[in-house]
Amino acid sequence: MIGGIELGGTKCIVAVANNPLDILEKKIIPTRGPTSTILDIVSFFSNYQISKLGVGSFGPLVLNSDSAEYGCLVAESKGGWKGINLVKELSKIDAHIIIDTDVNAAALGEYKYGVGKSAETFVYVTVGTGIGVGVLIEGKPHVGDFHLEIGHMFIPDKDNFEGVCRIHGNCWEGLASGPAMQSRWGMEARALSLEHEAWEKEAQLLAFGIINIISNHSPDKIVLGGGVMNQKHLFEKVRLNVKKIWNGYTPLGPLSDLILEPALGSDSGIVGSLSLAL
Ligand SMILES: [Zn+2]
Repeated sequence: MIGGIELGGTKCIVAVANNPLDILEKKIIPTRGPTSTILDIVSFFSNYQISKLGVGSFGPLVLNSDSAEYGCLVAESKGGWKGINLVKELSKIDAHIIIDTDVNAAALGEYKYGVGKSAETFVYVTVGTGIGVGVLIEGKPHVGDFHLEIGHMFIPDKDNFEGVCRIHGNCWEGLASGPAMQSRWGMEARALSLEHEAWEKEAQLLAFGIINIISNHSPDKIVLGGGVMNQKHLFEKVRLNVKKIWNGYTPLGPLSDLILEPALGSDSGIVGSLSLAL
């Protein structure tokens, strides 16, 4: 039996499984401070005997498994979690722990079991509480020296909106995440009507970031997941904006083949976290 943890900023999904698509038990734990959240996670796994545990976590975190700091959260992206070493904290669970970012895990889930199958350069973008991006090259996460933080790149915004990123203000996440929409329009994204101008603006902001990803990585598939992308009408608006902004510079093929919905829906992250354990 294997275990998986998808540790997000608002909720944590824990699961045990025979394999990533054969989940035996799954539980959602609200993410609060580290002490109480980790206590709940350890308590869930105390009922099972697992050999390996895959963890997909919010970051930024140390991914170099040779480092003594492997699994350590290095910034205050979620209040109270800076300096927490997840590998050490989860060592009460008797299993070999493999850790990656939540978006690399979700990318892996879609690559192995969803729409990313056989993609050479595969990108998973989550647009929710924040914006995160995982890039897989032939199935392996491209991490560079630390790991990618594509959600914190800068994109144009004519409206002079100050942005909501705690670190940078008006980076991509600061302008186009769920909390950014709420701050810009004065209500939660899901409360905005389909006709609201917010959606065209959001599609344009997302398209700017996607254009930058295309420029940098030339992916063959890009999946857009996360809470904001539950608004299915956004997909076509994003594709139209990508087409307009890229302006035919290089052939991208049909954008409905390039920019896709996740096949695993909201399970990409936990399926991917379980896949890390294989
Ligand atoms: Zn930022």
